[in-house]
Amino acid sequence: MRRFMQHIKEIYPFLKDPKNVVITTHQKPDGDAMGSSLGLYHFLVQFGHKVTVISPTNWADFLDWMPESKKVLDYERQTVDANKAIDGADWIFCLDFNTLSRTKRMEEKLSAATAQRILIDHHQEPQLDKFSYGISNVLKSSTCEMVYDFIVDAGHDDKINATVADCLYAGVMTDTGSFRFPITTAAVHRMVAHLKDKGLQHSRIHEELFDNFLENRFRFTGNVLLNRLEIFYEYNTALIAVPQQDLIKYNIITGDTEGLVNYPLSIKGIKLAAIIIDRGEERKASFRSKDGFDVNTFARKYFNGGGHFNAAGGQSKDPLDEVVAKFILAMKENKDQLSNYQF
Ligand code: 5GP
Ligand code: MN
Repeated sequence: MRRFMQHIKEIYPFLKDPKNVVITTHQKPDGDAMGSSLGLYHFLVQFGHKVTVISPTNWADFLDWMPESKKVLDYERQTVDANKAIDGADWIFCLDFNTLSRTKRMEEKLSAATAQRILIDHHQEPQLDKFSYGISNVLKSSTCEMVYDFIVDAGHDDKINATVADCLYAGVMTDTGSFRFPITTAAVHRMVAHLKDKGLQHSRIHEELFDNFLENRFRFTGNVLLNRLEIFYEYNTALIAVPQQDLIKYNIITGDTEGLVNYPLSIKGIKLAAIIIDRGEERKASFRSKDGFDVNTFARKYFNGGGHFNAAGGQSKDPLDEVVAKFILAMKENKDQLSNYQF
């Protein structure tokens, strides 16, 4: 059996020796997944490493502003090239996920790879036996913060340029809900100050990420809030259930549903917000909570998922109406925790 994961500092002395490196992340990468992958990419190439970033699936268009995002391989579309990179790799960095299953169709290939797998992640219960080296810390706001710590701790903050800064900022900003969630520590703000000194263009990044809606996405949001939102005041809970026909009608593509789950948290008293989307091949669930309710445990227990205390997700192969019924039952089972909320 493989040895359990050793601390990432064990690789610091070898960072200077050029290697073949693969960086990968979870399926349907979000700002933190893509930002940490490309931030690390732009750091590592400065040592002369040959670095390939592989995403298990496609990603949202609003991440394409990140420098070199066009070079990222989509495993589903470029399987042959991606497999070649994995076969030739000395190191495989695994960012922003805790279990190899979060890489979907890449799982088997990653699992069989002879390269050293190195984890950088902030999710609960990582598969420690799958990684040679790494760092896992649920108290970190984002994987981007952890990549920043890694660079600084290894003594290479001179290699944080404006490009690295932009990528890392994107992830720390999105994973903290624009510096709003309780996990946003003073260290996060100090990191951003440091990135700013290195040339970070924060206003541009906010525009790229949030002011890039097409009209169809905007109207889809209106439709969802008007017609697909149900509020269970007794349980301080809001649920959005999106049938596949809405996705088709409004021409919805990857990334267009991002952030929808957060809207109901703006309603006074709402402690748990959920969205269940019928993507056709599966029903995808996302959960968000205000500090008192643990959605990571909730997602694990009822929806074959996981995540963080205040943000988690899961999926199901059951039809949408059954997943909704299951959610309502789960909500009722958690009545004590949901109802006794102090506003
Ligand atoms: P989102 O709802 O934005 O997809 O994900 C929120 C958080 O939950 C992220 O940290 C994400 O990694 C995690 N997450 C989402 N879906 C799943 C899932 O199916 N399984 C697990 N283990 N984590 C998930
Ligand atoms: Mn993350």
